[in-house]
Amino acid sequence: MISIQHLSKSFGATTVLRDVNIDVKRGEVVVVLGPSGSGKSTMLRCINLLETPTGGHIFIEGNEITAKRTDVNKLREKVGMVFQQFNLFPHLTAKKNVELAQIKVLKRSKEEAARIAREQLERVGMADRADFYPAQLSGGQQQRVAIARALAMDPHVMLFDEATSALDPELVRDVLDVMRALAAGGMTMVVVTHEMNFAREVADRVIFMEGGVIVEEGTPDEVFNNPKSARTRDFLGHIT
Ligand code: ATP
Ligand code: MG
Repeated sequence: MISIQHLSKSFGATTVLRDVNIDVKRGEVVVVLGPSGSGKSTMLRCINLLETPTGGHIFIEGNEITAKRTDVNKLREKVGMVFQQFNLFPHLTAKKNVELAQIKVLKRSKEEAARIAREQLERVGMADRADFYPAQLSGGQQQRVAIARALAMDPHVMLFDEATSALDPELVRDVLDVMRALAAGGMTMVVVTHEMNFAREVADRVIFMEGGVIVEEGTPDEVFNNPKSARTRDFLGHIT
């Protein structure tokens, strides 16, 4: 589904990713852990070309997105991304936020976009807030609208970059529940998170990054209960 091969990324003289190799199968949930600055966000942003890799190749469903002729907009339709900051349009209601790209990018009719927006808001438990503006919603509610907006584009893959990190603790659970349900429904997901319980319960595979390289990779059981590298042990020791 996703194949990342020898990915490297530098910003000027600073190398942020070195020879990163990751394969994600259809329906697989891969959780990426690592300290601040280890390159997690940069890696995720390379998967939908928000960053241009310096070297290596990335394939999504067999198509090389790092090839020159890639249609970035087509790619981003297939690869949904949810950020720490929800980035909803403040002047649009929840429903209109979910409709907009469907109409502008996918050229769906207003009626169809509205129907799909209702379905997706329902799916994330936000149907009763469809006519609220972002400022009238809690952070967790805004994040669920952002997830609904991404899902409305029928993505084949969902990328989550610390989707719960900006939320008050009591709001985190609702968002994680939505992500759990997505995973259980078979969505292919790459999730950067500090939520260790989520990683243990939901991940098929856990990747630990540091200094722009993959230090360790395995099942949650392998990485959490029996980490091979001292760095992983140290990191998990501090965070759990
Ligand atoms: P965090 O857990 O804090 O989100 P991260 O693992 O997501 O960290 P990245 O955001 O990928 O880390 O950043 C990795 C490194 O790349 C950092 O040292 C950062 O300063 C650097 N970096 C990221 N974006 C840029 C940029 N646009 N220009 C220069 N350096 C950058
Ligand atoms: Mg980050």
